[in-house]
Amino acid sequence: MMKQCANTPLLLGQSDQARALFRQEIQGTVDAILSSFSDERAFSGIHPDELRAKIHIDTLLPEEGVGFDGMLEDARSRIFPYFLRTWSPDYMAHLHSPALIETIASELVIAAFNQSMDSWDQSPVATEVEVEVIRHLLSLYHMGKEGDGVFTSGGSQSNLSAITSARDWYCNEALHHDVKKKGLPSSYNRFRLYTSELSHFSMEKSCHLLGLGYDAVVKVPVDRECRMDISALALLLAKDKAEGNLPFCIVATIGTTDFGSIDDITALKALADEYGTWLHADAAYGSGLAVSSYAKRMGDTSLVDSITVDFHKMFLLPISCSCVLVRDKHTLDCFELHADYLNREEDEEDGYINLVGKSLQTTRRADALKVWFAFRTRGKDGFARIIDTAVENAAYLYERLSKDEDYEVAIKPEISSLVFRLKGSDEKNKQIRRTLIHDKGIVIGQTVYQGRTYLKFTLLNPTLTHAVLDQITALIKTL
Ligand SMILES: *Cc1c(COP(=O)(O)O)cnc(C)c1O
Repeated sequence: MMKQCANTPLLLGQSDQARALFRQEIQGTVDAILSSFSDERAFSGIHPDELRAKIHIDTLLPEEGVGFDGMLEDARSRIFPYFLRTWSPDYMAHLHSPALIETIASELVIAAFNQSMDSWDQSPVATEVEVEVIRHLLSLYHMGKEGDGVFTSGGSQSNLSAITSARDWYCNEALHHDVKKKGLPSSYNRFRLYTSELSHFSMEKSCHLLGLGYDAVVKVPVDRECRMDISALALLLAKDKAEGNLPFCIVATIGTTDFGSIDDITALKALADEYGTWLHADAAYGSGLAVSSYAKRMGDTSLVDSITVDFHKMFLLPISCSCVLVRDKHTLDCFELHADYLNREEDEEDGYINLVGKSLQTTRRADALKVWFAFRTRGKDGFARIIDTAVENAAYLYERLSKDEDYEVAIKPEISSLVFRLKGSDEKNKQIRRTLIHDKGIVIGQTVYQGRTYLKFTLLNPTLTHAVLDQITALIKTL
């Protein structure tokens, strides 16, 4: 085993030694990944205490390094066998996807060049790539010619960015109050954001971080299809307005996390206009529909002021990859701040783009490159096949289970998740999920619907076949 010696190259560069080492360590890593599994199971089944014991080491930072080969050899026995294999058809618990192979390659490029997206002089070509990718995404989501957007760490940050824009816009437009400079107006505890009771918890988190508090989030009841109940929303808005509260934002969920249900953007837009609020679409989940045969199911996204798009869910890109798009590019100005050492105004006047002015982050990964790799590689046709398969698998399973005496299904899926339960006790359903993970290496989801425990299949994986779905649902019965 080769120890790391003092003259081992540290960095990529011109020397033959550095190039050889780069090839060798990347190749060694690829080999370690490929030899870490020998079946299609999603998980080894190991229990948490056993796994903790395997991972325990006396020292993480030994006096002398063991070298890359030494580290890798140890990791191959301690760590690699226990990774969840997200590409397995038996992995369907969450909106957590396998990664398309070309996008794993793009991660290597991102890490090798390690550009930072804050300023042009830290990421010349990656900045231009992000700007170009955003331009095409604005068109894909019908966000108009005056829009803009930025890549973020995920849907939670995309939602926070959009709700920050909404709050600042409302303070400026409706209250003539410069919140960026002066902080919250005295009426801060009257601000209200309306979203479905099934919306993502990043709504509450965002309102907390923005100084508005959880109580600013009004959870609107849903109808039988788990969509926001529009007449209930209309009543809540009217009541709040009459009581002197300040509706500033409505959030449509385009694909609720558990059910994949889709709120009606057109109906929400009418209410947003009537009450003078911002309209945000949280399409972290449903955004993948835009490149499928089911794009119309998203509704008319040309009506929203902002939209969250996650690429690490339906699009099958590696974590993390998300963006927020806004209809009016000036509404991202809330993130702009000039630093003498970073984004000098004179450079921007000369055409150097510093993306830090649109982002909550400073140092930021070149995630837009993953979208470039994937979209160029697969094209619309390739993506339509991936996403259509997911949607059709959910529809197939719905048909099957709703005819089966032993199962109950929550709602008819619009995207790719199916929430169902085996008739009988909640305990039995909970036990099934545990048995599947530890005895069979099959990882499925669990949630609550109308107060009862339900199981959930999140069918993002395009290699899933009807036969596999039949096998798993038959297996669940035998448990
Ligand atoms: C997953 C999800 C989020 C959060 O996105 P992250 O990328 O996990 O931060 C927000 N909204 C909805 C509807 C989601 O499904």
